[in-house]
Amino acid sequence: MTTELPWRRILLKLSGEALTGNAGFGIDAEVTGRIADEIGDVVARGGQVGVVVGGGNFVRGSQIAASGLDRVSGDHMGMLATVMNALALSAALAVRDVPSRVLSALAVPAVCETFTQRAALASFEAGQVVLFAGGTGNPYFTTDTGAVLRAVEMGCDVVMKGTQVDGVYSADPKTDPSATRYDHLTHREVLANGLSVMDATAIALARDNRIPVIVFSIGEPGEFVAVASGNGRATLVTV
Ligand code: UDP
Repeated sequence: MTTELPWRRILLKLSGEALTGNAGFGIDAEVTGRIADEIGDVVARGGQVGVVVGGGNFVRGSQIAASGLDRVSGDHMGMLATVMNALALSAALAVRDVPSRVLSALAVPAVCETFTQRAALASFEAGQVVLFAGGTGNPYFTTDTGAVLRAVEMGCDVVMKGTQVDGVYSADPKTDPSATRYDHLTHREVLANGLSVMDATAIALARDNRIPVIVFSIGEPGEFVAVASGNGRATLVTV
């Protein structure tokens, strides 16, 4: 299928929070449905879309560890949370007749298939949205790192990180009125200035493999389609 988009294969990274709506916890069907609509729209325009969803709307391993429980168990819980989110997004895509496949790096064979590069590439070629669950499959990592890792393995042209704000700022714009927004940054500038785009492991992996990262607001309806079409309001991070 030919594409009218500037990117052929896109890796969309969503934090678990993106699915919560106003509740601040769990999965909001309306918000999840709106994101599924936008993914379907990008696919209809000829884009191949892989999605890595986080799990922070349910649990983060570091929070479990801070409460005095075992970190590795907490990270396993966090990875299972990403599986729940991927299943929710897959179900929302299914009711819109957008074919998708959930592949988890953490084996949960009763509910989805286990990730292999071969299976994922076959799904992209078949026009399916590939939902990468389970992060990297290892504790002490984040789904941001999982997203860049999958983008590199899958030959994606770009990582699009959907956040709650419209790009990268010098400080948190919600609490600091003097925060300024960047249109363009390099991976090196992000690392040198400790800018909150993704964790350092993820940004270093993107830099080493020359993968651009686009940060945009997934909370803004229509923005994923706009950014995937080469428009929209976002910060572009390149080598
Ligand atoms: N996690 C992990 N390994 C990975 C990815 C995620 O152990 O490769 C765990 C970790 O506990 C993390 C949780 O899953 O806190 C949820 O992922 P993340 O915090 O990245 O989700 P997000 O903030 O994007 O919702």
